[in-house]
Amino acid sequence: MLKTLHINKYFGEDHVLKDINFEMDAGEIVVIVGPSGSGKSTFLRTMNVLERPTSGDILFMDESILYKKINEKKVHKKGKELTPTRTEIGMVFQSFNLFPHKTVLQNVVEGPLFVRKYEKEQATKEGESLLEKVGLLEKKNQYPDALSGGQQQRVAIARALAMNPKLMLFDEPTSALDPELIGEVLNVIKKLAKEGMTMVIVTHEMNFARNLADRIIFMDQGKIVRNASPKEFFNSTENKRINQFLANID
Ligand code: ATP
Ligand code: MG
Repeated sequence: MLKTLHINKYFGEDHVLKDINFEMDAGEIVVIVGPSGSGKSTFLRTMNVLERPTSGDILFMDESILYKKINEKKVHKKGKELTPTRTEIGMVFQSFNLFPHKTVLQNVVEGPLFVRKYEKEQATKEGESLLEKVGLLEKKNQYPDALSGGQQQRVAIARALAMNPKLMLFDEPTSALDPELIGEVLNVIKKLAKEGMTMVIVTHEMNFARNLADRIIFMDQGKIVRNASPKEFFNSTENKRINQFLANID
């Protein structure tokens, strides 16, 4: 479903992603872990072109999300040409990024109304059903700042789902939350997993990763240094960096 081919990313002199080759199938749940600054967010952000790699390509359903071909020449997709990718690949950030001046329901229906051009009635119906799914239908007319962090993040998930994505990207969705609110967000993600949603999740929640992931990827200094099943990942003891990382987390 998603394939990255020799991705490199530089910020100035800083070589942040180093020749990353990665592939995942539909229905898979991949968890990315690794130390701060290892490139996890940058890698995730390249997957829906919030960040353009300096070189390499990314295929989504066998088609480049970065380039189109004109007379056999590769040309960057730009602006509206990126909309299909951005609607098919949903993203949820650490900081919920809701529109503060819009209600919960308005936040959720924004994309369907203005990007997908749904009728208001249909967008509202689907939006309400998504809010019900994340357990927040009764909050539909509230504004984000009246909600807890966990609730805001669940709205952000509903908003991403409203575009009917084929792939969901989560960048540390629970890192900004108080410990007692983490579970409610993880439960929503678990629900999506049960429904077969394809997901890439950057997280430090190792128990969650162990139970939910089909694969765990460990990044260090811009490289994927391990790509393994949770069982293999937690049983391996050879890699010093991974052991150090796990010791610091648990
Ligand atoms: P964390 O666990 O702290 O979120 P991360 O693994 O997500 O870290 P990234 O945010 O991808 O790491 O950052 C990787 C490297 O790229 C860091 O050295 C960071 O300073 C640098 N970097 C990230 N975004 C930018 C940017 N927009 N401009 C310049 N440098 C950047
Ligand atoms: Mg990050």
